[in-house]
Amino acid sequence: MTEFAIDTPPIVALPIAGSDAMFPVRRVYCIGRNYAAHAIEMGHDPDREPPFFFQKNPNNLDPSGEFPYPPHSSDVHHEAEVAVMLKSGGTNIPLDQAESHIFGYALSLDMTRRDLQGAQKKMGRPWEIGKAFERSAPVGPIHPVSSTGLLNEGAITLKVNGEVRQEGDLNQMIWKVPEMISYLSDYFELAAGDVILSGTPAGVGPIARGDVMEIAANGLGTVRIRVT
Ligand code: MN
Repeated sequence: MTEFAIDTPPIVALPIAGSDAMFPVRRVYCIGRNYAAHAIEMGHDPDREPPFFFQKNPNNLDPSGEFPYPPHSSDVHHEAEVAVMLKSGGTNIPLDQAESHIFGYALSLDMTRRDLQGAQKKMGRPWEIGKAFERSAPVGPIHPVSSTGLLNEGAITLKVNGEVRQEGDLNQMIWKVPEMISYLSDYFELAAGDVILSGTPAGVGPIARGDVMEIAANGLGTVRIRVT
């Protein structure tokens, strides 16, 4: 048995709807600008340029239902997204086999310190300080694909304090889920436990302490997150 020199970090484990078993997280990939209307609102051309990804840390995923307003920002934005959980992976995964690696889906938020991200963009620097902070990815229970079927269309909405802020349809993704899996596997080795946040529709905007965010999508129910 391996002896460790320091305390071992806990495995990040997410709840699965209808099961006592948990989903262990290995890596978190997030795609940028994957809905045309959101690319336009962020000042970019929605033409289909190659996809780009950034990463969050596994323990940024937070199923607690609370989002503590992070320090060093006065412009924290919600980005409602569907997270795709993988049960297996590999490299150079062909497009027609990509969906066979999906374990399930969950509602999630790619919370963003937009002011910090904007400053990094201007300087051509990486985005982690704006994207990969503590508890930056609230996530709901995982719904296995065996119960939802493949989710390639259907409404996704985000309300803040009951008012609709983001509205889109999963069929508006510029890069579809199988394309993201196949593309990522050309550059990285994907594996069981990997999570892909699939991008956000238009309507991103700021939140404040005390707000209640409510994200919903067909087949994935509704998840409420309170900003504390
Ligand atoms: Mn995002």
